[in-house]
Amino acid sequence: AAEEGFDIADVEGAIEEAGHGPLPVLAVVGRPNVGKSTLVNRIIGRREAVVEDKPGVTRDRVTYEAEWAGRRFKVVDTGGWEQDVLGIDASVAAQAEYAIEAADAVVFVVDAKVGATDTDEAVVRLLRKAGKPVVLCANKVDGPSGEADASYLWSLGLGEPHPVSALHGRGTGDMLDKVLEALPEAPAQTFGTAVGGPRRIALIGRPNVGKSSLLNKVAGEERVVVNELAGTTRDPVDELIELGGVTWKFVDTAGIRKRVHLQQGADYYASLRTAAAVEKAEVAVVLIDASESISVQDQRIVTMAVEAGRAIVVAYNKWDTLDEERRYYLEREIETELGQVAWAPRVNVSAQTGRHMEKLVPAIETALAGWETRVPTGRLNAFLGELVAAHPHPVRGGKQPRILFGTQAGTKPPRFVLFASGFIEAGYRRFIERRLREEFGFEGTPIHISVRVRE
Ligand code: GDP
Ligand code: GDP
Repeated sequence: AAEEGFDIADVEGAIEEAGHGPLPVLAVVGRPNVGKSTLVNRIIGRREAVVEDKPGVTRDRVTYEAEWAGRRFKVVDTGGWEQDVLGIDASVAAQAEYAIEAADAVVFVVDAKVGATDTDEAVVRLLRKAGKPVVLCANKVDGPSGEADASYLWSLGLGEPHPVSALHGRGTGDMLDKVLEALPEAPAQTFGTAVGGPRRIALIGRPNVGKSSLLNKVAGEERVVVNELAGTTRDPVDELIELGGVTWKFVDTAGIRKRVHLQQGADYYASLRTAAAVEKAEVAVVLIDASESISVQDQRIVTMAVEAGRAIVVAYNKWDTLDEERRYYLEREIETELGQVAWAPRVNVSAQTGRHMEKLVPAIETALAGWETRVPTGRLNAFLGELVAAHPHPVRGGKQPRILFGTQAGTKPPRFVLFASGFIEAGYRRFIERRLREEFGFEGTPIHISVRVRE
């Protein structure tokens, strides 16, 4: 590496950074108007249309990447929901429940000026049962005179209240230091606990695509409840289901069942549930209703799974209802609307008739295999060497940037770092991704490619 002009420490640093693997998840929960969204904006360090949201506006984005003191993590923002017909306690509890379930640590935000309310107490009970590390944020302490308000929150029994002004930034740094102490390096529930355990599948898709029908079909009579979430509902959360002679864990199946009381803000809950399920899963089976046009909502759900870096299978459901004309248009729509997952294994199923149910497991296994693929450095560089010689980067400003060497820094999903002599254009990066896929498979998995340029 040194003779190519890269310092060995740079190379090692780049590989370590690119190979970070899945990030731990922090959930920010609390009542409406305590300042959750303001705090999330502070944490992610940019104003990403969180607080500007007006009530009733659908928000799809609920997870953001953040970095503090050199450590990266994800933040789940629960600020975008509305009170539903069951009243404030139930709706706060429901949204907190999803977020806590998916999280490795929780920031519980309380308005220090108001003090602890009954709703806050209800969230505290949920937090106790979940047993996740909690950092108590006493928000709206905009100056020293508010510190006394914060100290009253010791009464919640969650340990030290951290006085913070999310609005002005006061105290947020100290609080984030505590968050890092509470947050594991890697997400425990996704990777730590499950080594050798059943593989985790999230069944996702917009309402009415047939998730619950499919779950019932594959589960048959064998449905086993393995775990009950403490909280407002007694729905099973994760279910062990045997398919093709193998036991799989279907995560967050409670989210699949209908919650009839969720009227207002139902889309937001759906997004939060999807994000939570995807965080917990290794592979996402995205269900699309083949009888209807592929929608923006379908695309957003696919994007969530891709951005989370999960293995992906796309299942086109309700195949029993398709006539020839619809089939024709469906194929065109898949090409134009779902190009971002052209690499995902596809199954055409009917949860109603059971059509092609037996193809689901092989597709899932294919996607997981792609997700775990590791290309040895020698093979990768032999491939890159030939590729670059046969298809050099276009000359720009009299110079020809070149890929010098590369390595795979991580798996689940595969992450590559390429080292180059100059800026590599997006088109050439895409070309390399395409050729990597042709050469090494990677069916059913997103792949990450980062490029380091020699200074
Ligand atoms: P959410 O519903 O919990 O997400 O709350 P928001 O982040 O939307 O904040 C609710 C209101 O509280 C907004 O008007 C914010 O500007 C205000 N707010 C948030 N944090 C602070 C703070 O630290 N100090 C003060 N004074 N106001 C705040
Ligand atoms: P979910 O909201 O994604 O869980 O969707 P459901 O499983 O509740 O299904 C929504 C509707 O689609 C119900 O009326 C189902 O009977 C129907 N449905 C689900 N799968 C199929 C299928 O493969 N074929 C047909 N014809 N209808 C289906």
